[in-house]
Amino acid sequence: LAGSIGEMSRYTLSKFYRNIDPKLTRIFIVEAAERILGTFAPELSSKATRELEKLGVQVWTSSMVSDVDADGVQIGRERIEAATVLWAAGIKASDLGRMMGVETDRSDRIVVENDLSLPGHPEVFAGGDQACFMLENGATLPGIAPVAMQEGNAIGKTILNDIKGKPRKPFKYRDKGQMATIGRNKAIVEIGNLKINGAFAWFTWLLVHIYYLSTFRHRVFVLMQWAWSYFTFGYGARLIVNRDWRIYREKKQGCDDDSSS
Ligand SMILES: Cc1cc2nc3c(=O)[nH]c(=O)nc-3n(C[C@H](O)[C@H](O)[C@H](O)COP(=O)(O)OP(=O)(O)OC[C@H]3O[C@@H](n4cnc5c(N)ncnc54)[C@H](O)[C@@H]3O)c2cc1C
Repeated sequence: LAGSIGEMSRYTLSKFYRNIDPKLTRIFIVEAAERILGTFAPELSSKATRELEKLGVQVWTSSMVSDVDADGVQIGRERIEAATVLWAAGIKASDLGRMMGVETDRSDRIVVENDLSLPGHPEVFAGGDQACFMLENGATLPGIAPVAMQEGNAIGKTILNDIKGKPRKPFKYRDKGQMATIGRNKAIVEIGNLKINGAFAWFTWLLVHIYYLSTFRHRVFVLMQWAWSYFTFGYGARLIVNRDWRIYREKKQGCDDDSSS
């Protein structure tokens, strides 16, 4: 996200304003942990940090956000003045689990059995972002696409086995590695002991994501869209078609009718 904003301000928007210079946009990542992309090997994490810095992103690690208000972000005694703050610290499952009165974790994910069924309800399953699958070491599987895809497949197979009268098998997650894009021609990929970064990693990321799309038509369509964005530097990003996010401050008493944000 920070990489995309960096690229957007430095390449996509840079030529289109006379009175402001989008290249002067200040972008910060504020991360509570010691390094960003903490699930990756430390060397990939530092390569990603260097790449982000080249895009003008300042990476603040070991920095816990203590407050966010309309004018900025407080990090302990430090403050960053900001009109735009994007909060990306985790996701929450839908309210469905809590509505059903079943056991959920702190992200409202339903705690499931080892065959992904609900405790006491072998006929009901939860998978993907909605499920909290506990590993033997006490950790839980993260809310990412490979987990959702493998859990969906496993649930399908379990239902087929039930119909055929075969016994259920416990779900086993196969970690196929992890990837993250940082920007144009910039990514990091970790598959077992293999650690790559730069353009080759970015190309691998692209191929894997295209491969996992559901139909040939989707693959071709997405590939064409991405190629268009790549060669045009995503100029479509200049258009803001939905303005619901815009915050209008309340008018101060005694001020005239200036309602700009
Ligand atoms: C911004 C963002 C970036 C991400 N990037 C990555 C990434 O790079 N790599 C990665 O591995 N993962 C990524 N993820 C996580 C990944 O998208 C999810 O883990 C994955 O999509 C989960 O799949 P799912 O089928 O469980 O849920 P979803 O894909 O969210 O599908 C759930 C569906 O259920 C529908 N639904 C919700 N409530 C109801 C209801 N009450 N009744 C009926 N339907 C309902 C929703 O509309 C939705 O279509 C990202 C997620 C986000 C938000």
